[in-house]
Amino acid sequence: MISMNGFSQEPAEILVAEQEAATSVFASHYYVLGTQVTEFESEWADYCGSQHAVGVANGLDALEIILRTQGIGAGDQVITTPMTAVATILGIIRAGATPVLADIDPETALLDPASVERCINEKTRAIILVHLYGQVRNMAAWQKLCDSHGIALIEDCAQSHGAQENGLGCGSFGVAGAFSFYPTKNLGAIGDAGALVTNNSKIDQQARMLRNYGQVNRYEHHEIGMNSRLDELQAAILRVRLNWLDEFTARRKQVALRYRTGITNQWVKLLAAPLNPEQHVYHLFVLTTPFRDQMQQHLVESGVETLIHYPISADQQVALKGIATDPHGLPFAQEHAEMCFSIPCHPQLTDRDLDHVIASVNSFVPRES
Ligand SMILES: *Cc1c(COP(=O)(O)O)cnc(C)c1O
Repeated sequence: MISMNGFSQEPAEILVAEQEAATSVFASHYYVLGTQVTEFESEWADYCGSQHAVGVANGLDALEIILRTQGIGAGDQVITTPMTAVATILGIIRAGATPVLADIDPETALLDPASVERCINEKTRAIILVHLYGQVRNMAAWQKLCDSHGIALIEDCAQSHGAQENGLGCGSFGVAGAFSFYPTKNLGAIGDAGALVTNNSKIDQQARMLRNYGQVNRYEHHEIGMNSRLDELQAAILRVRLNWLDEFTARRKQVALRYRTGITNQWVKLLAAPLNPEQHVYHLFVLTTPFRDQMQQHLVESGVETLIHYPISADQQVALKGIATDPHGLPFAQEHAEMCFSIPCHPQLTDRDLDHVIASVNSFVPRES
């Protein structure tokens, strides 16, 4: 089976380096918010082209903390997309604010600015732009839209590690960017981990306080904070894996290029290609077809695993019943949720694997019912 992630096929030298890093953390007898975290924060800020990075417990917390540094909470509205990991929306709710869902552009599955405009009112304080599947697009236009309405641009970079536009790293276009290092992300820990990046030193300082009980000096608390500290073991592993990120991202791009040229099945649609290769780091390679169930069955029978990102538009989630949306509804997000599927796209895929995935997708013929 060609699977959706390639952990078991990773080069042995990565495991060796991770084990050495873990051993050094054990030997240090220092386990939370220590030098590994500080070093990782500075390396991650550099990698992203941002001035500051703050390590936190996960991507959801990074979003909540960013919103709280903006003073966004009860009575405020934050616009985002229904086609995302639910954590994006939970972050807004956890900050005490009200999420409002705008529709997507079906060509990219990213937020549609016209729909976002319809959602903006006097209570709107921010947009959380999700760089879905690894895509960073039209950032100048988003900055302009946010500036013209006096609202904050916040980036959800949980799927877009290292993606850039015009040479600038994601996370540096808005007030701050939230990263997740969940194991399956493009840069992953061996458990939960996250970070936020920003060029604003006030946001940096406030985030450091909020992640650690609202503490300004030891046992001195100026805000109702959280426990969202990053631990030394995760930071040490992330520092090791960061050394492979460029190579792995380059391979993801090659995989995607092979898929883009190789997949020719008339029953399958590809999302729009990035205008420039820097804009897409292919966390996921997503296709759409009106015959999704049949397609997934065909692929599993030929030894290709698939997943769906995401099968339920957030407005249709039981837990989010009654959530506010674009007054025109969310027809494109709902259609995408019904038709999208993801094929294996990770750095450990061999050229033979790719030939097999492409041949399997191309050999699919729907049985019309
Ligand atoms: C993974 C993910 C998150 C949440 O990150 P966690 O570390 O799991 O909390 C948020 N947004 C998007 C788009 C994600 O893919």
